[in-house]
Formats: sequence, C-alpha cells, structure tokens
Amino acid sequence: MSRQSLLLQNWWYTSLLHTNTDECPPLTEHIVCDTVVVGGGMAGLHAAQLLAEAGQSVVLLERNICGGSSTGKSAGFLTPDSELELHQLIRRYGIEGGKAVWSMATEGIARIVDNIQTHALECDLQEQQSLFLGIGRGGQHAVHEEEATRSSVGYDSIVYDARSLCDIIHHTHAYRAGIRYDGTYGINPLLYAQELKHVLLQKGVRIYESTAMVDIVGHTVNSHLGSVEAREIILCVDKLEYNVSSVADDVYHAQTFLSISEPLSKEEVDELFPKGPLLCWDSQLVYSYFRLTGDRRLLLGGGSALTTFLPHDVTSPRVIEAVIADFKRRFPFLKHHAFIQYWPGRIDTTRDLVPIVDRDPHRPYIQYVLGCVGLPWATFCGDYAARKILDPDLRSHDLFLRIDRPFFFPSLAQRFFGKMIAFSLNNIWSKYIQKDVVGSPRRP
Ligand SMILES: Cc1cc2nc3c(=O)[nH]c(=O)nc-3n(C[C@H](O)[C@H](O)[C@H](O)COP(=O)(O)OP(=O)(O)OC[C@H]3O[C@@H](n4cnc5c(N)ncnc54)[C@H](O)[C@@H]3O)c2cc1C
Repeated sequence: MSRQSLLLQNWWYTSLLHTNTDECPPLTEHIVCDTVVVGGGMAGLHAAQLLAEAGQSVVLLERNICGGSSTGKSAGFLTPDSELELHQLIRRYGIEGGKAVWSMATEGIARIVDNIQTHALECDLQEQQSLFLGIGRGGQHAVHEEEATRSSVGYDSIVYDARSLCDIIHHTHAYRAGIRYDGTYGINPLLYAQELKHVLLQKGVRIYESTAMVDIVGHTVNSHLGSVEAREIILCVDKLEYNVSSVADDVYHAQTFLSISEPLSKEEVDELFPKGPLLCWDSQLVYSYFRLTGDRRLLLGGGSALTTFLPHDVTSPRVIEAVIADFKRRFPFLKHHAFIQYWPGRIDTTRDLVPIVDRDPHRPYIQYVLGCVGLPWATFCGDYAARKILDPDLRSHDLFLRIDRPFFFPSLAQRFFGKMIAFSLNNIWSKYIQKDVVGSPRRP
C-alpha cells in the first residue's frame, strides 16, 4: 500500500457533505435558561434531549459541530463492551455490580436505537452481531472467561474454536477462539449526532455550534461573545480545561486510529463474513477492530502501544498503515484492497475506565459527565445526569460513577509521575487486576 493513497480526513465528515444539516450559529448575546449543557457529543445531546422532553428550557453549547469530537470520529460500534469486557466488570464489582454497570451500556444502546427508530434518523444503522476474537493463548483464555461469565449471569453467546470460526469469518490462522453475541449495531455516529440535533431543535433546545465555553462564573457559562445563565450546568466536554475545573485532573485519554476502504464487492463480503457482517475486535491490549458500513466499506481501527497514551494527536499515517498491514496479513485475499482515508482520535478515559457523573463538591449546580469510553456509556451518562436534575434523590448508579472513588495509583502520585504514566498504569490495573472495589470514598 502506498502512503499517498491514504488521505488524512475523517470519513464521517466526507459523508456529511451530502446531507442537509441545520445551521446553529455561534452565541452572541446573554441568555437565560433552566439548564445549559456544554458539549454536543453523545452525552450532551442525550442530556439535552431528556431535559427538553421533560419541559425544561435547555441551551446546548458546542465548540465544534454537534458530534464534532470523539463521537463523530468514532467507529460507530454500538456494543456494551467498550474498554471493559463483562468478566472484567464482574471481577471488579461482583455479579450484581458488574451487571449493573454492563446494563448502563445496554440501556445506552437501547436509547440510541429507539431514537433512530422513533425519529427515523438516517445514520446507516446496521444490526450486526459482535465477535470478540482471541489472539494467542491469552486471547483464547479471555474468550472462555467471557463465555463462562456470560452464561453465569444468563446472557446468551456462542463460542467458536479456531476451526469453527471459519464458518462465520474468513479462514485465518490469526485467531484461536471467538465469542459472538447479539444486541449490537453499527452507525454513522456523526450523522446520528447531526440528525439528533435536528430533533432537539424541533423540541425547542437552543443550540449554538462553534461556541466554546471559556469559563464559568457563578451560574453563568461564558463563551467568546455571549453567556448563558442557568440554574443547572452539565459539562459533557472532552479534554476539560484546568481553568474551568480541577476535575480535569481526573480525566486523560487514549489514542486510536481509524481508516476506511473502498467498497468491497459482494463476493468479497461473503468471503470475509460467510454468514453475514459482524462487528469484530480482538483481545490484544491495543486492539484492532473492524466492521462493514452499509455501503460495504471496511472500517478498520487500531493503535500502537507507543502512541496510545501520548498527550497529543499523532497524525502520521504510520500507525494505521501498520494496522492495515496486519489486517491484510490475516486476510490475504484483501491484500490489494485500497484504504482511502484515515483519522486519529483521542478517547477520554478515567483512571479505572468507568465514567464520571457527579456534582462539583463546591458548586453543586455543576454536574460533570466525563471519561465516557464508548457511545453507549456516553448516552447513558448524559441521560443519567439529566435524570438527576429531574429527580434530585436519584442515586442508583452513583456508587460507580462518583468522582471520589479509589484508584491503584492515587492522584497524589500523579503529581510526581505525570498523567501519562499514572493513567496508563491505572488503566491496565483496572482492566486486568482490580477486584472487589465497590465504595470506599476518599472524601467524607
Ligand atoms: C477513533 C475513535 C474510535 C472510536 N470508536 C468507538 C466505537 O466504535 N464505539 C464506541 O462506543 N465508542 C467509540 N469511541 C469512543 C467514543 O467516541 C466516545 O467514548 C464518545 O463519543 C464520548 O462521547 P462524549 O459525548 O462523552 O464526548 P465527545 O463526543 O468528545 O463530546 C464532547 C463534546 O464537547 C465539546 N467541547 C469540548 N470542550 C468544549 C468547550 N470548552 N465548549 C464547548 N464545547 C466543548 C467537543 O467539541 C465535543 O463535541 C471511539 C473514539 C475514537 C476517537
């Protein structure tokens, strides 16, 4: 593959060029509302939707376009897994706690699919089952652990060994085992965000794009040329700035890359997925993932150990070229198939890979919805923050989502070792080691 053939451009932006999207000009005045939501990704859009449907006056500020950051860069897999598989959640929280956390993501998926169906959102919804692929002995073990966990809590799945895998995916020696289950989908996430924006506008939400929050003074969120005064403020932003809140310390990010191919022929699709398209990802720590879009393009993502935790975007094509080369080694019948565009993206994470939804301890009218690793989790968390405004006694998921939960590598140590080291160690620890950790708050 020649390097010139890959263009640094987000495919979802390319696909947006053919659609009519609503214009939401920047805020240039002082306005007042019940709740201002800052950030128009998956979390912010769903928070705004729920509040508007409950009759509140809602303003949404977005510094780019709605869906213009992680949401609109994502691969659009709607699965409950994100960075943590079910067995990892159950090891950490026990059966009831693990199921409760898992169900946040399944509720998020249900909410997205319901929106698509209720409002006829055109965003390339593809119902595709998930296939988690085990590489090497460790991967094989992870597949069997996942299967044992799923059956112990009554969730259906089908397990494949290396031989039977070729019934559902092109025969390759790369994978030792796989586990497949349903209830999962693929979408064009930027189209979803823009279509949902249209629904919100119809519900009376005032949306200002190209409007960055600069700071918060009391109950007022200031932007460059305007301001919004509100009883409640929900911050659903990525890459939170320290000048807005020191909670920025509790969020870092992991970097991944995506690429999109020319459309596959029908014969190639049948060869890759003999029984129909699947959402695939593998068991490596820095995993690769791929799926088919509605127009039969291959969406392929992955990263590298060296770039995952770097503080800034790496835009060089080298990382994705290595991911593509690896994919083609596994599926040599596609070795001449062209990938045309690629783009990097940074996913906000917390230290233990579970999101934060909590109120500021000193300014309780501000809620944070941060570090949502995955579209379904972001959807659930935006929704949950909105529900907490509508029902101040709601606490059902606070135990998992509060800011003040304990971590292996505490915040204090972060000051000496830096965020990159502290977060990468915490992330690995919480994914592979952390056990029985419900509760134990740091602050009274
Ligand atoms: C390359 C890539 C692939 C991914 N693939 C998948 C996948 O297949 N499936 C999946 O479930 N997840 C995937 N993810 C993760 C997923 O995209 C995120 O977890 C999810 O989108 C987070 O949603 P969010 O609303 O919390 O954040 P965001 O979508 O990042 O939304 C935050 C919004 O806040 C805005 N903002 C930030 N600062 C300000 C400010 N000062 N003022 C106003 N607005 C501000 C941003 O512009 C942004 O629109 C992927 C992410 C990347 C980068």
